[in-house]
Amino acid sequence: MSELDRPGDRDLVPKDWTYAPAPESRDIVHLRERYGLFVGGEWLEPSETYETISPASEEPLAVIGQGTPADVERAVGAARGAFADGWSSLPGSERAKYLFRIARILQERSREFAVLESLNGGKPIKESRDVDLPLAAAHFFYYAGWADKLEYAFPNRRPQPVGVAGQIIPWNFPLLMLAWKVAPALACGNTVVLKPAETTPLTALLFCDVLRQAELPPGVVNIVTGDGRTGAAIVEHPDVDKIAFTGSTEVGKAIQRRLAGSGKKLTLELGGKAANVIFDDCALDQAVEGIVNGIYFNQGHVCCAGSRLFVQESIYEPVVEKLKRRLETLRVGDPLDKNTDVGAINSAMQLQRIEELVASGREEGADIYQPPCRLPEKGYWFAPTVFTNVAQSYRIAQEEIFGPVLSVLTFRTPDEAVEKANNTPYGLSAGVWTEKGSRILWMAQRLRAGVVWANTYNRFDPTSPFGGYKESGFGREGGLHGLEPYLRFDE
Ligand code: NDP
Repeated sequence: MSELDRPGDRDLVPKDWTYAPAPESRDIVHLRERYGLFVGGEWLEPSETYETISPASEEPLAVIGQGTPADVERAVGAARGAFADGWSSLPGSERAKYLFRIARILQERSREFAVLESLNGGKPIKESRDVDLPLAAAHFFYYAGWADKLEYAFPNRRPQPVGVAGQIIPWNFPLLMLAWKVAPALACGNTVVLKPAETTPLTALLFCDVLRQAELPPGVVNIVTGDGRTGAAIVEHPDVDKIAFTGSTEVGKAIQRRLAGSGKKLTLELGGKAANVIFDDCALDQAVEGIVNGIYFNQGHVCCAGSRLFVQESIYEPVVEKLKRRLETLRVGDPLDKNTDVGAINSAMQLQRIEELVASGREEGADIYQPPCRLPEKGYWFAPTVFTNVAQSYRIAQEEIFGPVLSVLTFRTPDEAVEKANNTPYGLSAGVWTEKGSRILWMAQRLRAGVVWANTYNRFDPTSPFGGYKESGFGREGGLHGLEPYLRFDE
């Protein structure tokens, strides 16, 4: 060995494993200064506007239209026109071609969309790149496959499109929620007026480019940006035949009240407070990864987040110890850095809500743990948080926090686990960790949750229906079930 090759005094194993920054370039995204409303295939100049920002830096990104009732009127008119003017009577195989095209363009432009999603919403680029974008494209591919098979999906029921679908989506998975709603609506022959969330309109606006690229007939999809008032105008419009809403239980209830007796179809995908149940026979390290994925994925801005952890008493200590150790390795920071695990909180308002609920947890007597981590000075941030010593009555165990905050509770027997897991007004999702298949089935039959994951968490697939019980809403999105809300049947 030459003098130069010898390690000398240097350590053979480095002591410092910190990551070097690995920022994704923003250059691929070309933002306009100002965006209009996408109506009838054209950009309408808005009469009112607001500014959308990056939650990680508070930097203004673009000026966005605040859709008024008059704008909604035009959008619904354009959608009605396109429905009557050929889209609803187009053979399914022809509609499918457009959906396939949209899916392929999303794949081709996925990096651009992923960067924009992280920029506008604050989620880590590795999530928008590896989860949101592939799944959004997969939904269009999947529903393209159904477009010409509706007669087989619903034999002897003569499925017909419903008409104009009004769709209102939240800010946690902006493009993915758009795909969940637009793809089945179009596959069934409906036309759409969609409102993205106020804080995250940019990927929906970029999607308008995709619609043009795919040469979708004008008016089939209309995007009207704005705040809750724009959403309310869509809900109230008499010529909208179906409303699909994802968001808070509070707004969902208001929409349901508003639509009562109107004859409009409605699906609501609302909040959750999911139980992630860890039995003492589970593979512990995998379960800890599942707990982390369950609550810190997308900063906990996930309706099906595993925000209530139920650990069997005999393994409580090792689970909490391993969890805390794992939390220390989570990298919180720049959403555009490819190493980042936990990005920015979506808005100042959401940060305030998280802080308020975390303060209530402390006041009510729970013990808080946050790993040492330096949060950026600008922007909206919240460190990954674990509460132990939590009683079921505490607000942090009852209310949806929609942030990176986990409440740990314990149980002794499977019956007790079921009883406690179901002790919530919600019923969207749950997780079960055990090596026994029979126990998984036993639990899945008893948990009042639309989705039950076993030895995994937060897995999504377009073929699998998703939706809730109780205050988590009704109706299913995804899979064959996801077609039904967009069809009427002449039986
Ligand atoms: P909202 O329910 O207010 O937002 C969801 C969507 O509905 C947004 O597009 C919103 O517009 C729109 N909207 C608001 N008010 C009305 C209305 N009266 N009629 C029609 N549409 C309306 O949720 P928030 O963003 O206020 O978040 C509050 C809490 O809701 C969160 O802390 C979280 O707990 C929960 N939430 C749950 C989600 C889920 O996936 N289940 C998703 C988002 C939030 P705008 O963006 O302008 O407000």
